[in-house]
Amino acid sequence: MHIMQAAENLFAVEPLASLAVMPAQAGISLHSAIFSSIDVNTPMRLSQFHINTYKESPSDAEVISQKLMLRTSMIRKLSGGIYTWAPLGLRVLRKVEGIVREEMNRAGALEVLMPAVQPKELWDETGRWEKFGPQLLKIKDRADREFCFGPTHEEVITDFARQELKSYKQLPKNFYQIQMKFRDEIRPRFGVMRSREFLMKDAYSFHSNEPDLAREYQNMFDTYGRIFTRLGLKFRAVQADTGAIGGSASHEFHVLASSGEDGLAYCENSDFAANVEMAEAICMATRAPASGVMEKVSTPKQTTCADVAALLGLSIEKTVKAVAVVAASGFYLVLVRGDHQVNDIKLAKLPGLADFRLATEAEVRQFIGCPPGFIGPINPNPANSADNLRIISDRTVAAMSDFVCGANEPKFHLQNVNFGRDLPEPYLVADVRNVVAGDVSPDGKGTLTLARGIEVGHVFQLGQKYAEAMQASVLDDQQKSVTMWMGCYGIGVSRIVASAIEQNHDDAGIIWPESIAPFEVVLLPMNPQASEPVQAATDLLYQQLTKAGVDVLLDDRGLRAGVMFNDADLIGIPHRVVIGDKGLAAGQFEYRHRRTSQAENVACEGFSAWLIARLQQGSEV
Ligand code: ATP
Ligand code: MG
Repeated sequence: MHIMQAAENLFAVEPLASLAVMPAQAGISLHSAIFSSIDVNTPMRLSQFHINTYKESPSDAEVISQKLMLRTSMIRKLSGGIYTWAPLGLRVLRKVEGIVREEMNRAGALEVLMPAVQPKELWDETGRWEKFGPQLLKIKDRADREFCFGPTHEEVITDFARQELKSYKQLPKNFYQIQMKFRDEIRPRFGVMRSREFLMKDAYSFHSNEPDLAREYQNMFDTYGRIFTRLGLKFRAVQADTGAIGGSASHEFHVLASSGEDGLAYCENSDFAANVEMAEAICMATRAPASGVMEKVSTPKQTTCADVAALLGLSIEKTVKAVAVVAASGFYLVLVRGDHQVNDIKLAKLPGLADFRLATEAEVRQFIGCPPGFIGPINPNPANSADNLRIISDRTVAAMSDFVCGANEPKFHLQNVNFGRDLPEPYLVADVRNVVAGDVSPDGKGTLTLARGIEVGHVFQLGQKYAEAMQASVLDDQQKSVTMWMGCYGIGVSRIVASAIEQNHDDAGIIWPESIAPFEVVLLPMNPQASEPVQAATDLLYQQLTKAGVDVLLDDRGLRAGVMFNDADLIGIPHRVVIGDKGLAAGQFEYRHRRTSQAENVACEGFSAWLIARLQQGSEV
């Protein structure tokens, strides 16, 4: 008997053990096998669950998602940017994770789990131990060896790949993990939106050639679209700056929300969308002939374009602002229209300006002989040769005539200024400003709308940067060693939870998208202690829904109706069922969807089937 049991137990663990070494094609990894056994769909009696709800949020909570996550005790702060996920919050986090994992598996990616703690030597190979800067949390072990807590895993996965992948025949491969990262953010804020410790899905793909990387990039791009659609979020994929790595393609996925930290520009009539810094500013106008005579006007206190325009009774669109910058190649005045902003990223891409910085006030005085606020493009210090001081004009400014600009003399501006007549044509005309609402879309299909977004995902063609630095290569079909091509694909899993709330809430609380709600249905029995029928109907309904696999929460705390209603709304459970004596007498339950204000009475007879049909319709309700 004992022997039998032991044998059975042994046998019972075997399928799991064999999963661990099973080839990836099985479509399910050991980790997802383990995680899916963490059942996020467990029906729950509230008396046995754990929540605390608060009327007020802590005074240092800044954004609505942070306030609501704290008021519902989804999370609790341990230290700046470091949070515990309480049972209610964890249910949501796990659901997000589940959708991400399912879609990554479906897309052919293979789950791994890499260490959080990474040795310095790896980071030295790519030069990032120094370059990553203070965001990297550095730690030492007892033998004084240096490590960091991983903020990202390019180094670790490249090390893994160079050991595991030897032949082009093993490629392509896409490895992903869902794992805690640590970044010592300079300003952790907004709860789990910008925390120091956060859950990320990071994936890294390996290829023997560039076209195959481009193919997988598209595969991931499409997968991300499916993930965010399933999460029930309004999002946009936007072209992103490839920053220091340069060259290759990169897109960010943003959840649209007014509290978003990033500025986005998109076209309503097409799929054009980009980070404000990236969107090209198109100028359709052509320069009109000069009409006014240039004259000097007194602007004793007016140092901004808005103030000068107001004083002269002109629109700010007639003014030009000059921004002084210095680079190793010389001193430049960058001209943009008074209401426009210089775009640093675009400027740095111009020849000779990669290292530019804003001129200091002292440098402005020294080069132009005039304080900032009154500088302009006409004779900016004749003592300097033209070679030393160049004028870069934004496209919009180059098409202006009869404009107002600084006179290079304290307390004066010039009016009716024209290129070609009053000053030479600029040294360079380029797109150096941020787009504004109403600008023509770069794809010519309409105008741009500006919106705020929260970055929840980022896909990136890394090229050979890491593989080259770390000598990760495979043998090709000619037995020649080739450096692998890499892509990386991140999703901010914990940030998604906060951004879903930013996009879906009202005065009463959270309104969860159905797919990630902590519970799908809440049952609210009215005064069950005093009513046998209410108790019986509630128990029956709870059993029926549980049996059907519905994620149901039964509020059996025996509290006043008002408290239960408020808590259910605050927590944001999509479907609410009220069971009361009056309704039961009429053979009805009261049903309400969290998105609607009106409750409706639905017959008890066949109610669970009716509700399950609604759940299947999902967020269409
Ligand atoms: P951000 O610009 O917001 O600082 P990032 O570009 O540095 O983010 P990535 O390196 O692209 O971030 O990381 C992948 C994803 O991880 C991001 O798209 C974001 O959703 C998430 N993420 C990054 N930093 C944080 C953070 N401090 N807190 C929560 N999520 C984060
Ligand atoms: Mg990013």
